[in-house]
Amino acid sequence: MKIICIGRNYAKHAEELNNPIPQEPVVFLKPDTAILLKKHPFFIPEHSNEVHHEIEVVVKINRLGKHIEPRFAHKYYDEIGLGIDFTARDVQAKCKEKGLPWEKAKAFDGSAAVSRFFKLSDLNKPITDIDFHLDINGNTVQKGNTRNMLFPVDELIAHVSKYFTLKTGDLIFTGTPAGVGKVEREDLLELYLEGERIFYFNVK
Ligand code: ZN
Repeated sequence: MKIICIGRNYAKHAEELNNPIPQEPVVFLKPDTAILLKKHPFFIPEHSNEVHHEIEVVVKINRLGKHIEPRFAHKYYDEIGLGIDFTARDVQAKCKEKGLPWEKAKAFDGSAAVSRFFKLSDLNKPITDIDFHLDINGNTVQKGNTRNMLFPVDELIAHVSKYFTLKTGDLIFTGTPAGVGKVEREDLLELYLEGERIFYFNVK
């Protein structure tokens, strides 16, 4: 199983980090060891003093595919969840400065927190109109809707499947809306999908 992540997929988030609006999806990977184990807190890694939260809609791939056309992409998933793409922003800034890869900032153990998954047919909403938000200690810090993606899910699947064969169980983190910020020890993170809290955990 692999985790494919999309960077800068919401214009306001790209702007808040002073990144340009991308002309094609920004893609990076996390290994399966990045998954935060269920019922575990997120531990801030020793190598960072500035870990940011990025709430994202996560799409679970349900069949094998490569070179998928956008119009067929919807056949490759039927469940979504929410996740946090934890990012060591201080480490990432150094990598970017030196033109180095991002993995030490993005792919460390526990850096991919993922909720349980929900059938889109049960949510009764199209993938292009999903509301989600993140509360920290009871305050909403990030709020998004998938309609504001620069590259919608079906286009992301078409794009990434040109490079990587998609397999059943692969996860796609589809990018974060504006409002990213630092997490602190003892923070409580609560993730809401369509107004319902579906996942929560603490930072240690
Ligand atoms: Zn992200």
